Amino acid sequence: MPNRTVTLTGWGRIAPSAAELAHPRSAAEAAAVLQAAGREAGGHVIPRGLGRSYNNAAQSGGGLVLSTARLDRITSVDSRTGIAVCGAGTSLEQLMVAALPHGWFVPVSPGTRQVTIGGAIAADVHGKNHHVGGSFARHVRELSLLLPSGEQRTVSPEADPDLFWATAGGMGLTGLVTEAVIQLKKVETALVKVDTVRTADIDETMRALAEHDGRYGYTVAWSDSTATGTRLGRSIITSGDFASVDDLPAPLRLEPFAFDPRARLGAPDLFPSGLLSRHSIRLANEIWYRKGPRQRTGEIQTIGQFFHPLDGIRNWNRLYGPAGFRQYQYVLPFGREAAVRRSFEIVSALPAPSFVTVLKRFGEASPGFLSFPRPGWTLALDFPVRTPALLPLLDRLDRLVLDNGGRVYLAKDSHVTRRAFEAMYPRVDDFRKLRAEIDPDGIFESDLSRRLAL
Ligand SMILES: Cc1cc2nc3c(=O)[nH]c(=O)nc-3n(C[C@H](O)[C@H](O)[C@H](O)COP(=O)(O)OP(=O)(O)OC[C@H]3O[C@@H](n4cnc5c(N)ncnc54)[C@H](O)[C@@H]3O)c2cc1C
Repeated sequence: MPNRTVTLTGWGRIAPSAAELAHPRSAAEAAAVLQAAGREAGGHVIPRGLGRSYNNAAQSGGGLVLSTARLDRITSVDSRTGIAVCGAGTSLEQLMVAALPHGWFVPVSPGTRQVTIGGAIAADVHGKNHHVGGSFARHVRELSLLLPSGEQRTVSPEADPDLFWATAGGMGLTGLVTEAVIQLKKVETALVKVDTVRTADIDETMRALAEHDGRYGYTVAWSDSTATGTRLGRSIITSGDFASVDDLPAPLRLEPFAFDPRARLGAPDLFPSGLLSRHSIRLANEIWYRKGPRQRTGEIQTIGQFFHPLDGIRNWNRLYGPAGFRQYQYVLPFGREAAVRRSFEIVSALPAPSFVTVLKRFGEASPGFLSFPRPGWTLALDFPVRTPALLPLLDRLDRLVLDNGGRVYLAKDSHVTRRAFEAMYPRVDDFRKLRAEIDPDGIFESDLSRRLAL
C-alpha cells in the first residue's frame, strides 16, 4: 500500500504535524520502506504504535512514520512457561485475550491496555505494580530490532545490554522493534480482589501508600486535586491482587478466566456539554472522592475496572475539546515528601485543577538509559490546554522537580527544556553516543527528539 500523508497527534491532541504514514506487514517490508526513506535527503523516520503517548513522541513532521498496526501477530503463548512471542504492534489487550485463558497476564499494565508491545518497550512503561514488578522492559527476554542501517538484530539484555537498555525507554530512537519475547505473569483468575480506602489528607495518603506497598501487588491513589488546606491531597486508594478461585463467588468460579475486552462503561453524564470545564473538573473530583467508600475490603473487580477505568470511556481525550490537554508526570525521590506536598499546593491553587490525578510509589529503577521510573513518588496530572496560566504552572513544577532531584516522563512530556531534561536524565549522553554509532545520519528522529536534541 502506498504511503499517505496524514496529520498526527498524540493522545493529548496538542501538537499536530504532517508526515507520510507507512504500514509495513513484515520486518522485511519495514526494512525496504526504511531504506527508501533513508535515500531521501533529510528523510526522517519514527515508529508509531497506538498513539497513546500524550504528546509528540510518535510523530516526525515532514518525515515518515512507521506504523506497527500490521505487525500485530501473536506467534505463540507457551501455557506452561508463560513466554509470549508477538509482533511489536500487538496491543496489550490482544495479548490479554490470548494469554488469560492459559492463566497468564501481562507483566506490567499501564492505565490503558490500548498500547502496543513496541510502545510499552519504547517508553518502558510502568503500572500499579511497579513497587514489586518494575517496568515493562524487565520482563522482555529478547526483541527483534530493525536498526536505522536496515540491519535486523536480535537484542537481549544479556547479549547486547547497551542496545537493549537504550531501546527500553528510548522512545523509538534506536530503531523499529518488530517482535518481542515476553515473560508473562501467572494468575489464578482474571479478577482482582480489591481493598479501597479513603484518606483525609496528603500525609495519610502517603502513609497508606507506603503501607500498602508492603501488603499488595498493585496499588495507586486517585487524588482530589481541588482539595486545599487540611484536605490537601485527600485520595481514594485502591490496592489489590489477582483473586484466587476460592475468593470468587460460586457463579464466577465456573469461568475464572473470563475477560470481555469490549465491556465499556457509559460515559459519565457529568459533562452535559460533552466538554470538561473548570466547573465540571471540580465537580468530578468532588464526586469521585465522595463516592469512594471510607473503607471496603475484598471487592471483586474486573481487569477493566481495576486497571483501565479510563478505557471504559471511548475517546475520553475528546472531553477536553478540540484544543486538547497536557499531561504531566514526575517522580520525586523518597525523602522529598515536602516537595510532593508543595506540588499539590501549586496545582490545587489553580482555578481549574487537574482532572485525573494519580499518585504512586515507584520501586527500583530500570537500567534503561532514558527510562523514567526511579525510587520515589510519582504524580500524574492532566490539564486542558486552555487552563489559564498553565505554562507558568508547568515551569514551576519543572523547577520543583529539578531542585529536588526528580524527573519528568518523556511519554507524557510537552514542556521540559533541553537543559532541564539533561539534568534529570544523567545517562542522556550515553544514549546520544550509542545513537551516533548506530544511526550516524540521524535517520530516526521525532518531533520530541528534535526539541530535546536526543
Ligand atoms: C489513558 C492512558 C493511561 C496511561 N497510563 C500509563 C501508565 O500508567 N504508565 C505508563 O508508563 N504509561 C502510561 N500511559 C502512556 C503509554 O503507556 C505510553 O505512552 C506508551 O508508549 C503508548 O504506547 P503506544 O503503542 O500507543 O505507542 P505510541 O504512543 O504510538 O509511541 C510511543 C513511543 O514509542 C515508540 N514506539 C512505538 N512503537 C515502537 C516500535 N515498534 N519500535 C520502537 N519504538 C516504538 C514511538 O516512536 C514513541 O516514541 C498512558 C497513556 C494513556 C492514554
